[in-house]
Amino acid sequence: MQEIGAEAAQIFVQSPRAWRPTNHKPETIERFKAERSRLGAPVFAHALYLVNLASENDELYRKSIETMCITMDVACRTELGGVIFHIGSHHGSGFESALERVAGAMEQILEHTSDTTWLLMENSAGGGGSVGRSLEELAALCKRLNRHERLGVCLDSCHLYVSGWDVTERAELDSLVDQLERLIGLDRLRALHVNDAKAPLGSNRDRHENIGQGVMGEKLGVFLSHPAFADLPALLETPGPDGHGPDAAEVTALRELYRRWTS
Ligand SMILES: [Zn+2]
Repeated sequence: MQEIGAEAAQIFVQSPRAWRPTNHKPETIERFKAERSRLGAPVFAHALYLVNLASENDELYRKSIETMCITMDVACRTELGGVIFHIGSHHGSGFESALERVAGAMEQILEHTSDTTWLLMENSAGGGGSVGRSLEELAALCKRLNRHERLGVCLDSCHLYVSGWDVTERAELDSLVDQLERLIGLDRLRALHVNDAKAPLGSNRDRHENIGQGVMGEKLGVFLSHPAFADLPALLETPGPDGHGPDAAEVTALRELYRRWTS
């Protein structure tokens, strides 16, 4: 993180594409905590990609809850800012039919949160019956969970764009911020995923692109520099030069984009 010049990070607490949890030794956890507080940087965990809290398959649903609880426990032990997760997909049966199942799962996971470590719903790209494709869906879950005090949101610029919000236009982004404030509350917005998009506006295709190299390009700066987001950690999930994730050049590109749009 220091090597690439970053001031915030998102990590996986186990392999993101396998169910088997990593058994972290207490000394590893202590070393991580010491290093994190030395850097004074916010760190978030991203849940497994396999998780689907809307699944109608009982086995997958059960495994998703169990894994989310384990991820949350590790995140609490390491005092991370939260666990960011993709809610899942109802595969076409509709949000209404999935609401109870998702909320039931989230209720259990929320019991594993702490004052520092929240559960953060990420807005989805909107494809394949994914839950969280609109602020209304996230708001409905928040309401159904009685506005739990440790439930928050992470907004992904690429997902917003491909789900139809042109967040490269200030007026449209302002109305998104208004809607977020009205339906959920800006105090629940805890982190941003700042990614350019490979696919067009409204395409519902979840394909991230490097900063400045996608269809949002320079105007990704409109999203990045919105005053309502000023104090939030901006987390990169871009492919980087070789598909292994963001490097120092990506962090520099993000920083320069921010500077251009705020000066
Ligand atoms: Zn994301």
